[in-house]
Amino acid sequence: MPASNNYGQLTTTSDNLLPFIESLPDAVVIVNQDHKIVLVNSLAGTMFGYATDVLIGSDLTTIIPMPLRNAHRKNVTGYFRKPVLRPMGEEKRFSGVRSNGTEVPVDIMINTIVLDGEKVAMALVRDVTYQRELQARLTLESLTDEMTGFYNRKHFKTQLNAHYSGYIRWRQPTSVIMFDFDRFKKINDQYGHAAGDLVLIQTARMIQQELRPMDVGCRIGGEEFAIILPNTQLDNAVKSAERMRKLIEKMNFTLEGVSFHATATMGVASFVPTDTCYDSLMKRADRVLYVGKAAGRNCTVSQDALPPETTA
Ligand code: GH3
Ligand code: MG
Ligand code: MG
Repeated sequence: MPASNNYGQLTTTSDNLLPFIESLPDAVVIVNQDHKIVLVNSLAGTMFGYATDVLIGSDLTTIIPMPLRNAHRKNVTGYFRKPVLRPMGEEKRFSGVRSNGTEVPVDIMINTIVLDGEKVAMALVRDVTYQRELQARLTLESLTDEMTGFYNRKHFKTQLNAHYSGYIRWRQPTSVIMFDFDRFKKINDQYGHAAGDLVLIQTARMIQQELRPMDVGCRIGGEEFAIILPNTQLDNAVKSAERMRKLIEKMNFTLEGVSFHATATMGVASFVPTDTCYDSLMKRADRVLYVGKAAGRNCTVSQDALPPETTA
């Protein structure tokens, strides 16, 4: 964003500036080169939970969260050395701290002016709580499946790709349990589509309780799920898959007074040295899952079951 012609050129007094900054819809905090707050408007007082005359004369760190204080002081010094227009909406995420210790996410825009004969930095400070929450919600929504709350296929792939890097660099083992419900069409046909949905929702809920915090449960297709198990060797992943398969088998689903059961077939795979990308593991898990389907369903098949030349 190009600087306006009179950027940093305003020379004024606190008495003249105050009515103007009071009329602005954003909080204004003006700080001098010693890191002292020299003037604020009442919106700044409200935002940070202080009377304006308490803020004026305080060190700027009063409204900066503890972990950011040192870095912020350096930033202010650097800013005065080379003042550049800092517009709002930049990627940098910044927070202030209120008098009660809670943080307020803010966006800031900074300019320099000469106030009462002293060069100062004037910051427009905007509370962006709503925008940050919205952004977080939209990001989460774009990565999750609405029906089950599990992550979607897109997130599964990104996460698995990240784990592939960990495997290549540090040989960190990662396994995946992929499972697909057996004869799901029959469940829909016999008990209705809502019954099929119920199976997916309740199974996801049950599995979520079985997962460790680092595990990532994903719904990668209609009635197909995949769970990423970081730091997990194949044999332990197979044990988890078997445990989950048995739990699914034991679940009793009830819709409108009618009870029914469902089973799933599980395919388990881990990264191997010959894998060229995350997709190699995905394909292998898929392949063993279909070996399980062909073997009669409701079983767990590990990549160990594949002939050695097809593991790669
Ligand atoms: P298999 O044991 O070979 O997996 O048999 P299947 O019937 O489960 O096989 P297939 O994958 O061909 O069919 C899956 C069915 O799952 C088809 C589709 O109607 C149903 N399905 C997919 N997504 C949903 C969903 O969100 N809700 C419901 N109720 N059914 C779904
Ligand atoms: Mg199926
Ligand atoms: Mg399927």
